[in-house]
Amino acid sequence: MALMITDECINCDVCEPECPNGAISQGPEIYVIDPNRCTACVGHFDVPQCREVCPVDCIPLNPEWKESQDELRAKYLRLVAAGVAKAKADHVTIAGHDGGTGASPESSIKHAGTPWELGLAETQQ
Ligand code: SF4
Ligand code: SF4
Repeated sequence: MALMITDECINCDVCEPECPNGAISQGPEIYVIDPNRCTACVGHFDVPQCREVCPVDCIPLNPEWKESQDELRAKYLRLVAAGVAKAKADHVTIAGHDGGTGASPESSIKHAGTPWELGLAETQQ
């Protein structure tokens, strides 16, 4: 499940820089979380970082966004692939179940590992 910010938010600003996915931003009145970018910190941390720092405990789970751990992980992989692609990498390689992610110029991966298309296909599932 993605998280959400309730109207108890006091605009203290501390959560925004803690989000590894850039999902938190200042809304018209209080801070808001983009559920398309919030992975509940899956892929980065064991616990939601925004919740760890919020002084008024106003960041519950978003009941409108029911997602399994696998779905959150798939969202994380999509965000990583999109971010790396925006950085103009030649290819995106995502390795193994618990493997890392990364981008390389074609020349350095030509004769190594599995085809990059396999990793990219993972991100679309
Ligand atoms: Fe960002 Fe994690 Fe909070 Fe979601 S739970 S908004 S990914 S810090
Ligand atoms: Fe609002 Fe909590 Fe974020 Fe502060 S940490 S801006 S109170 S949601």
